[in-house]
Amino acid sequence: MINRSFSQIDQMVNGIGHMNGSENLQICGVSTDSRSIQPGNLFVPIVGDNFNGHAYAEEAFNKGAAAALWQQDQGQPPAGRPVIMVEDTIAALQRLAKAYRDQLSVRIVGITGSNGKTTTKDITASILSTTYRVHKTKGNLNNHIGLPLTLLELAEDTEMAVIEMGMSGRGEIELLSRLAEPEAVIITNIGDAHLLQLGSREEIAKAKTEILSGLKKDGFFVYNGDEPLIERTYPNMPHPDSMLRYRFGLSESNDIYPTAILQDTDGMHFHINWPDSPGYYLPLLGEHNVINALAAIAVSKYMGVQDKDIVEGLKKVEMSGMRIEIVRSASGALLLNDAYNANPAAMKAAIRLLHSLKGHQRKMIVLGDMLELGPEEEEFHREVGRLLDPEEINRVFAYGPLSYYIAEEAGRKLGHERVQWFNDRQQLIEALTSAILPGDAILFKASRGMKLEEVVQAVQQS
Ligand code: ATP
Ligand code: MG
Repeated sequence: MINRSFSQIDQMVNGIGHMNGSENLQICGVSTDSRSIQPGNLFVPIVGDNFNGHAYAEEAFNKGAAAALWQQDQGQPPAGRPVIMVEDTIAALQRLAKAYRDQLSVRIVGITGSNGKTTTKDITASILSTTYRVHKTKGNLNNHIGLPLTLLELAEDTEMAVIEMGMSGRGEIELLSRLAEPEAVIITNIGDAHLLQLGSREEIAKAKTEILSGLKKDGFFVYNGDEPLIERTYPNMPHPDSMLRYRFGLSESNDIYPTAILQDTDGMHFHINWPDSPGYYLPLLGEHNVINALAAIAVSKYMGVQDKDIVEGLKKVEMSGMRIEIVRSASGALLLNDAYNANPAAMKAAIRLLHSLKGHQRKMIVLGDMLELGPEEEEFHREVGRLLDPEEINRVFAYGPLSYYIAEEAGRKLGHERVQWFNDRQQLIEALTSAILPGDAILFKASRGMKLEEVVQAVQQS
């Protein structure tokens, strides 16, 4: 992590430092949260909608913070402490991260897209780690505060960093990409997440292709070739002329595509179209994760990882939680917990996964509302209901006001006796626990706000 003197940091943020007698003060690491301050950290108080970090500066110093930034419109800083006055602490944090990044020789992979960013990040980092010292975004720290903090965590000798870039509006990815200056970027896909904020899929595509604005000259642009919007959008967005483009996806028109996919109980076997493709194994379920892996393989090859190490790195992938986590209930049913989040593309991926799952007595699905979809939300839910295959799915449990539309359509396809709708979490849990038998497989999916993971937990213990 960053390790610099007070006066160096003062210069990097372009602020006005008050040393208060602590000459040659050394600062190591940065935190915006007084609860997780480590001795020697720089505390960066942030003014949010519901909180103001400046109120916790004294606490941060008492816990060992070496110094703090201070936003000049926030009154007087704690007396006698080493502080650096700045106009805006978030902008200063970003300047510090950029200045630090410029001092490092790290090579950066930037990842954006509507779905699969964290998964693709984890797979890419796993492969690169076979060959390099690698750092990756922790969890989901992918926004205008999380990304600078991620850069500031890099060790001086980190060789590669895999960095997730998230957004909820135009301009955000451009900022993040310019801070990180990646040498390779991935756009996983364009979905319908954030449709409410951005208005159209075209606008979402523009927002995602902003990632090219920070791409280094001669950089590597890897994108989903099955999504025509990316191809159509990027030429009109700022990008380095000399970049190398590479397309991944299911269809054979892509530069990299899978030639054979076989799903087993806890992962995917596949080959790719490259000459002499070895067999790959990915310990994650679902065709969509094979697609995520293709992007990771392309970038890893570009970064110089050898083929045998790509095979090894894929085998060792470890995922962040609730993305198709496989758990067994006390009664012996298989629970597929995909409750991390949902939007139409992610729902489709989950349904395809359940359709292709073999060897279970019965297969059931618990689907909750997808939030923030804007005016067409009813139709998006109906579409999900229509996707359910009566040959492959025995029962459907829909949960939440919007999921009523899923239930209506599912009822038409599967017969109303196989579909139930709930608006009450407790009633859903009771219905599930009485329906599930050993040997069943049940997949859970909904937007995060539906808290479906609590349902999974309750069912797991039953
Ligand atoms: P967030 O915007 O919350 O950071 P993310 O883009 O990082 O999400 P992941 O956390 O990797 O995405 O995956 C979230 C969910 O998206 C998964 O549980 C899965 O259902 C779905 N998903 C992952 N990859 C794909 C894909 N390539 N296509 C469609 N859906 C996907
Ligand atoms: Mg993520």
